[in-house]
Amino acid sequence: MPVRRARDVIERFVRPVRGVEKVALRAALGRVLAEDVISPISVPAHDNSAMDGFAFAGAQLSPDHPTKLKVIGTDFAGRPSGLRPGPGQCLRIMTGAVMPAGCDTVLPQERAEGIEDDCVTIAPRSVRTGDNRRLAGEDLMAGRPALVAGKLIRPADLGLIASLGIAEVAVRRRLRVAFFSTGDELRSVGEPLAQGCVYDSNRYTLFGMLTRLGCELVDMGLVKDDPAALEAALRDACHSADAIVTSGGVSAGAADYTRDIMARLGDVAFWTIGMRPGRPMAFGRIGADGREAFLFGLPGNPVAVMVSFYFFARPALLRMMGADAPADLLVQACSAEPIRKRQGRTEFQRGVLSIAPDGKREVRITGAQGSGILRSMTEANCIVVLPDERGNVAAGEPVEVLLFEGLV
Ligand code: AMP
Ligand code: MG
Repeated sequence: MPVRRARDVIERFVRPVRGVEKVALRAALGRVLAEDVISPISVPAHDNSAMDGFAFAGAQLSPDHPTKLKVIGTDFAGRPSGLRPGPGQCLRIMTGAVMPAGCDTVLPQERAEGIEDDCVTIAPRSVRTGDNRRLAGEDLMAGRPALVAGKLIRPADLGLIASLGIAEVAVRRRLRVAFFSTGDELRSVGEPLAQGCVYDSNRYTLFGMLTRLGCELVDMGLVKDDPAALEAALRDACHSADAIVTSGGVSAGAADYTRDIMARLGDVAFWTIGMRPGRPMAFGRIGADGREAFLFGLPGNPVAVMVSFYFFARPALLRMMGADAPADLLVQACSAEPIRKRQGRTEFQRGVLSIAPDGKREVRITGAQGSGILRSMTEANCIVVLPDERGNVAAGEPVEVLLFEGLV
């Protein structure tokens, strides 16, 4: 199963959750907007000055001679003088002050040719009619959508909503995601490590990635490689969550009962995906006692679980959250060194993106790329995405990378 097709299938299969709640503006950060935000007002509400300077009617500017205007008062932001300059007159004006009646132009203070006691001299062609004036509604127009449903709310959006004087917004309810690790060899942090065992790290990377996505988490701990235990855990998860993310137990070598149980509980596909790391994956929908949940059965290897999460589970979970799933914003960089790559599969190699001395973006692979080497993830700041058709990469050749910043 090619990566692109698996992503398509998943995207078409999942559905957004329906619940909506009203939250105070600050609590909306990281949530998904459930309804369009329509501007109740225009922002700015009035034409105002973009600079500290002098406001006047631009029609009296001469293209050939200096224009001399008498300063009859000062308008401050939020404190208008109420004066209306006549011909040959102007007002001192501060940034953000409402444009005085009859004025359409602002000469920035530093562009004045001369400023005497109560007069300002404007050199020919130093300012044009309409300059340095912000128009009412140029940011947001009353009655128009300022933000559209489906937007994942970021700091700028909080400010924008505040600029409209809106204190509460409708957001989708949080997505509830249950997750657990499978494997007899796994031990939880805090337990002694018996011979041949490893600590369960996947539950921590999953915790981090799901938390950053803004999900409500149900940590179901460790589940033994035991059919009854796995079935009980999956049934339980259907009750508490919209989506279930598991790690381990889906590879060809893993016990076949995983497949049987998941198939018995619902509609689950088992894929061998043309990618590295992260070949095996299960995806589908399972149910128990009338409650259903989407299932992401991710591979067990610590790097594979992260890569599979980012490229398959994350876009699907965003869609379930009601968010417009953003396309992967891949950035081009030159590979600093040759990279070995096999054609016919997608490779996700961990890289460090930096700016070379010549100012160009350069990426370097973080050493050994084994799917169990989690260090390769912590040392990286991006994933180098090498598509199916690509073969070996020579030093200096361009490649595409997905930056962790904004992703994790
Ligand atoms: P599996 O997919 O269950 O065959 O696991 C593949 C490899 O990943 C094995 O070496 C497991 O020990 C390891 N592994 C599976 N789950 C975890 C986990 N939660 N934390 C760390 N390593 C894991
Ligand atoms: Mg296992």
